[in-house]
Amino acid sequence: MAKIFTDSDADLSILKDKVIAVIGYGSQGRAWAYNMRDSGLKVIVGLRKGGKSWEEATREGFEVVEIPEAAKKADIIVMLIPDMVQPKVWRDQIGPNLRPGQVICFAHGFTIHFGLIKPPEYVDVVLVAPKGPGSAVRELYLKGFGVPALVAVQQDYSKKALDYALAIAKANGFTRAGAILSSFKEETETDLIGEQCVLVGGVMELIKKAFEVLTELGYQPEVCYFEVLHELKMIVDLIWRGGLTGMLEIVSETAKYGGLTVGPRVIDEHVRENIRKAAQRVISGEFAKEWVEEYEKGCPTLKKLLEEIRRHPIEEIGRKMRELIFREGVQ
Ligand code: NAD
Ligand code: MG
Repeated sequence: MAKIFTDSDADLSILKDKVIAVIGYGSQGRAWAYNMRDSGLKVIVGLRKGGKSWEEATREGFEVVEIPEAAKKADIIVMLIPDMVQPKVWRDQIGPNLRPGQVICFAHGFTIHFGLIKPPEYVDVVLVAPKGPGSAVRELYLKGFGVPALVAVQQDYSKKALDYALAIAKANGFTRAGAILSSFKEETETDLIGEQCVLVGGVMELIKKAFEVLTELGYQPEVCYFEVLHELKMIVDLIWRGGLTGMLEIVSETAKYGGLTVGPRVIDEHVRENIRKAAQRVISGEFAKEWVEEYEKGCPTLKKLLEEIRRHPIEEIGRKMRELIFREGVQ
């Protein structure tokens, strides 16, 4: 059984009187800055001067400084800029300004696990990885709860690194839901494998292929859109709440029988083999190397693929359908 920490395992007092620098003010950065400030901590925000977040964070009442200054002022540095941007910002603006005993906190293990950032031995390196987007991190905190998270320690200079990680998790509401003790390796690899095979890649491909086949058979694209995309959300919500069994209790008898007998013929053993291969590419570092090279070239493949998706018939029909079926403020 995994070790799961809750609120009573974490003590905010370790962060009292410490300066926490949130580097970046995007999806996670803004949510963490607000949550930690509301938890009574001293938060400053490190940004590029003139960037568009600078004004926003200032307007929202934070002390905003440039990243090198934030790194100098802080006891705790929370890295909330995009993973592919982190190595250069670290090299030029953070690394040269570190001092012994600081705590560096990441929200995803990518740059540490794949060796793109190599911190000196005299700092703590911890991971507090929320399992949800920044919007959920903030909204659930405001409701008195939080998203679940993974916590891990890569480097324990202070011998208190886990306590720091748990306190940061608590200040964001994560220990209200539960923070699982993990490692940078486990968090990074499962995150990448999960998003490639299921959450982003797998689901998208299943939707697209099913839509293509149904429209090939001559069904109206509007009907196909409802069937393979729109309704998916409702099914996923049921699974999310009650597991596979909870979902099966609610769908019809025919859907239960059809789903259980035909599902494994569609998503068959080839898929399992393909997931294993994708996982191996992550574990070996081949995927990370490819992505870093792609990013350094300006993301030509990513841009091309995004454009192809935008032009896919399910996206064209989807844009029209969503105008029809969503009412602002209702859904
Ligand atoms: P984001 O893209 O929303 O953050 C952008 C922020 O980084 C902005 O404030 C921007 O000003 C700053 N930034 C961008 N380029 C910069 C540069 N060259 N120099 C300085 N600052 C720059 O990022 P995010 O999605 O919040 O991700 C932050 C971290 O959180 C990442 O490690 C990510 O893996 C992790 N994470 C994200 C999510 C998510 O749902 N978004 C979930 C879990 C973990
Ligand atoms: Mg991910």
